Amino acid sequence: MPRYLCLIFLLIHFVAYSQQDQAQTFVKGIYGNPERVLKAGYDFEDLGVNAVFVRRSSLNQPFYSQAKMQGSKVFVEFPTLNGKGYVEDHPDAWPINEKGVPAQPADWFMGVCPTDPGFKAYRVEQLRELLHDYLVDGVFLDYLHWHAQFETDQPILPETCFCNRCISLFETERGVQIPGGDNAEKAKWILANQESAWRNWRNGILNSWVEDMGKILREIQPKALLGAFYCAWFPEDHDGALYRTLGIDVPALAAGVDVLAPMLFHRMYGRPVSWAGDYLEWLDKIVDSPRPLVWPIVQAHDKPGTVSPEEFLEALREGSRTPASGIMMFSEQSLLENPEKIKVMQDFYRDLQAP
Ligand SMILES: [Zn+2]
Repeated sequence: MPRYLCLIFLLIHFVAYSQQDQAQTFVKGIYGNPERVLKAGYDFEDLGVNAVFVRRSSLNQPFYSQAKMQGSKVFVEFPTLNGKGYVEDHPDAWPINEKGVPAQPADWFMGVCPTDPGFKAYRVEQLRELLHDYLVDGVFLDYLHWHAQFETDQPILPETCFCNRCISLFETERGVQIPGGDNAEKAKWILANQESAWRNWRNGILNSWVEDMGKILREIQPKALLGAFYCAWFPEDHDGALYRTLGIDVPALAAGVDVLAPMLFHRMYGRPVSWAGDYLEWLDKIVDSPRPLVWPIVQAHDKPGTVSPEEFLEALREGSRTPASGIMMFSEQSLLENPEKIKVMQDFYRDLQAP
């Protein structure tokens, strides 16, 4: 081959490789139990998938190896404040409402009292175990909120937690003197006289979970990313429930993680699909630098109603707008139930370039 042809060939190869590499940097994920996608005969590389966000309970060694061999990063979803399966046997960890009695499960979700030391030790142990068993690309904290149900347009928003421990911690840490009485009376007094300090303290408790889990991650696997799935309501939605009830302050959360994964579940929240793009526009304005990466999770799931392949495509488009540098969907099951959605994802991921 003449020398100049050889150079041209190398140049073309280099440009093609760089483009491919750049396209690869946009994180294109599948959330849930992605092993089922492989078992159905698909291949991550062929689908354009370069990351899986696998539930801790669905992770196993053969899948981990297979995903890595197919060029996929492995991020693990960690069910931080999901109390189901724990609070039933540990009544001290059951969240207490403003009437001083155990809060009811919020539909399918059961939270926990986040100040329960036994529960914290239980999650810490699980995280350490996970990080000793697997070299992960990151851990994504999920169920990172006080007891509530937000994946619906009719949210369940109880006031918690007014257990003895939470009341006493609030009193000590904030230097508040709460008049005597039972838990219901104390709750009433706090909400009437110290509401702002109370909400702020609750937010601090949530942030301390992020900090503590982050410390463990950095100690054991310093290169792994800390992510957080969180409710993508605007601060004013549902009478300010994002902060008031769930305890989430987005700028504070952003300061504590490497990746924000807003849950852009348009149908569950009763929003048009275009809202996902509006949310990202808002997020772009309010998060300060140094800002974390933003990898939204969009809805492919058929509940409520049906998310058509066209609507799913729209959700992917909206959810990958600036400042997103990654995207995934809820969940693998919805893809397998409708192979047309897999085709939509595959075409979209193949064309998706890094911003
Ligand atoms: Zn409590």
